[in-house]
Amino acid sequence: MKKILLVEDDPFLIDIYTTKLREENFKVDVADNGDRALELVEKEKPDLVLLDIVLPNKDGWEILKEIKAKNKEIKVIILSNLGQKEEVEKGLKLGAEKYLIKSNFTPSEVVEEIKNLI
Ligand SMILES: [Mg+2]
Repeated sequence: MKKILLVEDDPFLIDIYTTKLREENFKVDVADNGDRALELVEKEKPDLVLLDIVLPNKDGWEILKEIKAKNKEIKVIILSNLGQKEEVEKGLKLGAEKYLIKSNFTPSEVVEEIKNLI
């Protein structure tokens, strides 16, 4: 079973994505802040991290940098409301495999993107 770490602080989105991903037979862990995200990356070594950017105590940029510095093999999809060209470029430059803007993707479409990567 492939492991996903969902890094998200919006309870509504946590609910939607954990339900959807578990239906699709992924093992899902959830971190609702930056410190917890990095703890779970080390502990669980997920196959993929679905990463929000605006988060309590460490933002997604910092989390992405740390993941890619220590665990390059872990795939990262950024899923954020931030959608400026500079932000998308920054995410890809820091090593994210994909940058998806929340309002442009349904949960089913996000799951398809995940399946294309792992
Ligand atoms: Mg957020």
